[in-house]
Amino acid sequence: MSVKRAISRVVYGSRYARVPWGQRIYVRPGERLVREFQWRLRLRRAPVVSLQEYRERTPLGEIEEFVSCHLCGETRQQPLFEPADAKRGWSYRVVRCPACGFLYRNPNIRPERLGDLYAAGYSGFLTGRYAANRQRRYRLTMDAFGPVFESGQGRRLLDFGCGAGLFLELAEQRGFDAVGVDLSADSVAAANARLTRARAHFGAPEDVPEIAAGGFDVITLWSVLAHLPRPLEDFKRFRDLLAPGGVLLILTVNAASLQLKAYGSGWNGFTKNHLMFYSAETMPALLRRTGFAAVAFAPFYGDTVEAGTTKLPAPLQERLRRNVENSDGGNMLRALAFADTEAVERWGGGLAVRPLL
Ligand SMILES: [Zn+2]
Repeated sequence: MSVKRAISRVVYGSRYARVPWGQRIYVRPGERLVREFQWRLRLRRAPVVSLQEYRERTPLGEIEEFVSCHLCGETRQQPLFEPADAKRGWSYRVVRCPACGFLYRNPNIRPERLGDLYAAGYSGFLTGRYAANRQRRYRLTMDAFGPVFESGQGRRLLDFGCGAGLFLELAEQRGFDAVGVDLSADSVAAANARLTRARAHFGAPEDVPEIAAGGFDVITLWSVLAHLPRPLEDFKRFRDLLAPGGVLLILTVNAASLQLKAYGSGWNGFTKNHLMFYSAETMPALLRRTGFAAVAFAPFYGDTVEAGTTKLPAPLQERLRRNVENSDGGNMLRALAFADTEAVERWGGGLAVRPLL
């Protein structure tokens, strides 16, 4: 038994031993406050260095480049994490912007080399149980934003980074006139084999005339945002591709997650190809700078809790929900961005809409 595990046994007894890892920190009494205190302490202690100094002491890979904060332009760096997977042979560094709090990988991937990350083998596991779980997550997230996704009749939808078409399949079932784009040719082929009316295309939106023409009522980014090396450029394009009254749905890992505060470099949001990590505090800057009018966030309680299949006893579920709401909003960030005031009027009812302009 590790020392940490032994300590938590003494503090909490065996009562929480069966609670899954990702839920434990939300249900053990007092843990949220301890983790938040630890986080503040970490930020106070970690030194802030100039970009020059950071460059000098940090190795740079062949497909990498040093960057400053994309959201606010700040060049100083606060190095915080070094996620690594020894078995699969990858590691990178994550810094925090000392001005706006944005977390990002630095060195980052050079955009023209992004294809290297997705060249092959990205669609092999998108079937069976994995696919069913993914589609459940998409449904739960659609439900969290009310009527936007109830009926797609007469509405155009673009799924950016559509992968093997798991979401496009749901979109066509709901009646959307749906298209997708992806940088993995394998995934696009798998998607088109799965789909009936919807279509997936290889490349960027501007490569496909029917997509470049714009006029979309909905654009979706399912676990894509953290992979974008030039988010400002991409979001300006998304804004241009939206029709009046259009909305952009974003699901990404939450950089304010209590799990990140607890597990640091071992956080499950630090996966191999993730480049940038947003929270409800930092994402509004990206949306504001790219011309969106407003945003609404929906807390994430975890798929099994939301789907009602969790084994967690009811009082602990209550505590989990309370702690998610009072702290970080959960381990995933779910956002609906509104293109203009027409979009807010049409789809903002019942949501906690934050104006951006
Ligand atoms: Zn910044």
